[in-house]
This record gives sequence, structure tokens and C-alpha cells, in this order.
Amino acid sequence: MSRSRSGWKYLFGPVFSRRLGVSLGIDLIPFKTCSLNCVYCECGETTDLTVGCREYVPVSAVLAELEQFLSRQPCLDYLTFAGSGEPLLHSGIGRIIDALKRRYPRYRVAVLTNGTLLMRPEVQEQLASADLVVPSLDAATEEVFQKVNRPHRSLHCAALISGLAGFRRSYKGRLALEVFIVPGLNDTPQELTALQEAARLIGPDSLQLNTLDRAGTEDWVTPADPARLEECARILGGAEVFAGGRPRRRVLFSGQGEQDLSCPAGAGEKKRGS
Ligand code: SF4
Repeated sequence: MSRSRSGWKYLFGPVFSRRLGVSLGIDLIPFKTCSLNCVYCECGETTDLTVGCREYVPVSAVLAELEQFLSRQPCLDYLTFAGSGEPLLHSGIGRIIDALKRRYPRYRVAVLTNGTLLMRPEVQEQLASADLVVPSLDAATEEVFQKVNRPHRSLHCAALISGLAGFRRSYKGRLALEVFIVPGLNDTPQELTALQEAARLIGPDSLQLNTLDRAGTEDWVTPADPARLEECARILGGAEVFAGGRPRRRVLFSGQGEQDLSCPAGAGEKKRGS
């Protein structure tokens, strides 16, 4: 993983998003390592399609960067695990979350994930101290799951849904389920009805809809227009819509001025990118 233009190796932003407010992104996964290869991914084609968890980057190095950044006491709403791959593939994410909550209790921690590894008890345990987990669920049938998410061969839609439901039962924090609408694939009445049933089974605190904001991996993927998103939200039983527009806000650093922020296409959110 190379050092970014901002000078940080594992951190990006802070950025502002309507969903998370001012959020510092933490990226633990080398580009582009994921258990899915979604047609809409704004990070591009998955080059390492894997379900193997390991310490892709050293926990100590990530914590050292966070220490350096947070010593300036920035005003942040969230520290957010996201980026250019699936963050739960990092076997040390639980240790990093626990250290953040112990050393910097003033900051809330969010994890944006594709949800495919949440069926594993050891992965569920890693997220116990997180304040907010946002898993994706873009399909409720195997056919659409294969078309939209193009998963690792070991992954199947029914197991993904029951894994999310199992996680919900054990996780005490806030769970926001996200559905990314890909017109023509997962916005049919049948798929939306199946998604509603899956969401009912999982029981998240909120259901959120999103759609394409900048070019996805496949150039035939288009955004859903606002009216269509509202219609999907209605069929899903009243989901919140998070799409369109890029708000701006400033972030304050204690005694050290401020930095103007914009939201670069959902970065610090999922970057579409997990
Ligand atoms: S959108 Fe997220 S889950 Fe899908 S391929 Fe990109 S990084 Fe992976």
C-alpha cells in the first residue's frame, strides 16, 4: 500500500457525507482486494477476489498513523473503516477498533462492509465495540446476487442473508443495511419484494438506498433517477435515500485552524469501495 497524496498511508479524508457527517476514512486493505466484484464498484475491477482474512497491513502501523492524526483532536463525527476493498478481510480490525475505543472514546467508530464475512463468529466478535456497522445487501435471490455482486465462488445469497441476521442478534450497536440500486438488475418488483423480506428477517435499525454517483466498474451501469429511488424506497417499506449531490462542510482541528471538505463521490463512505 503506497503513501497517498495526503501523506497518510492508511487514512483518507476527513470527508463529509450526509450519512456519517465528518468522517475520517481508514483503509486496511490493498487495492483492490475484496470478496465481491460488484458491477457498480467505483474502485474498479476486483483483482484479488478472496475470502481469506489476514493482517494485510500491520496493526501497529495503522495505530501509529491514527495516533498522529488524532493527537490534533480533530472534530469528527466518525472514524470509518472503508476504502478500496472489504475491511473485514483484515484479521486485526477488531484490535484496531478496540484500541480506538479505549484510547479515543470521544470518537464513534463505523464499519462499512459488504457483509459477506459476517456469517463467521470470529468476524462478528471483531465488531463488538463498533458504534455503527453498515453492511450492503443488493440482492435477495442467487441469480441477482451473481449478476450484481459477482461474488467469490464460495459465497451464496441465502448464507449471506442468514449471516446478517445472525450478526444482528449478537451485535449491540447500530446496524444500517444499505441497498445499492442498479437499474434493470435489482429494482424489479420481485427482487424488491424479496429484499424487503430479507430486511425483515435481518431487522436492521435502518434501511438505506444508494445508487451510482460516478463511473462504476461496468460502463453499462447507470444511476437510478430520484423518482425511481423513491419508488424503490416505498416498495421496501420506507427506506432512507442517500444519493445525489455532494455537500460541503468544514472540519475543525483543536487550535489549529480548519480544513474545507467536500465529499469526493462517497469517499470516506464506501468510495463504492466497501
Ligand atoms: S463495491 Fe465494495 S464490496 Fe463491491 S467490489 Fe467494490 S469494494 Fe468490493
